[in-house]
Amino acid sequence: MKLVFLGPPGAGKGTVAQVVEKDFGIMQISTGELLRAAIQCETELGIHAKYYMDDGNLVPDDLVMALLKQHIDTSECKSGYILDGFPRTIPQAEALIDAEIQIDRVVNFSMTDALIIHRLSGRRIHRETGRVYNLNPDGHPHPPADLEDNMLVLRKDDRPDAIQTRLKVYHEQTEPLVGFYQKRNLLLQLDGAKPSDVLCEEIRVALGH
Ligand code: ADP
Repeated sequence: MKLVFLGPPGAGKGTVAQVVEKDFGIMQISTGELLRAAIQCETELGIHAKYYMDDGNLVPDDLVMALLKQHIDTSECKSGYILDGFPRTIPQAEALIDAEIQIDRVVNFSMTDALIIHRLSGRRIHRETGRVYNLNPDGHPHPPADLEDNMLVLRKDDRPDAIQTRLKVYHEQTEPLVGFYQKRNLLLQLDGAKPSDVLCEEIRVALGH
């Protein structure tokens, strides 16, 4: 089973992908996570990618495709995978076709810009564990009460100016993929505003699992 999770930043793709990974026994491949790992290891690719990511821009297609291919070809991905955050442009979707990678289903998480801005501005990352928390009153999960404030950091691309850039990039370059996959009858439309456990159940039902 090969799935693509599509949607705007902050729509909860990663959270749902972690559950689906366990449920279906297929690997989650998040290009955002792979890129952040490359940045942390200061690889040549990471140094190059950081320049784009910090401002909320997309990393060039050839770099992301090269990174993805390294992972898809590993034995862990033999029984299938969830591409979380890839493709993000029409050329990336075409590169999948050119590479003869056949996607079974594309799950699109739709969400309003207002809710995206609200969610992303409340998101904080634990400095040591990398765990994701949300400080908004309606955010999930809340950081534990005994956690010191300075342990939580704002991702560079969750700063207000970078969020605006990511939204613009999403509408211009990623949203056209909804039509691209609809035409190919692969699309499953979900409402990203729903809680993640509800979304997981909707995916189980739709995919007959
Ligand atoms: P989010 O979905 O919240 O934007 P991600 O962790 O998926 O966060 O991605 C963070 C950043 O990584 C993106 O803003 C972009 O710069 C880069 N990135 C991730 N996936 C891709 C991709 N497929 N193509 C180009 N850039 C990407």
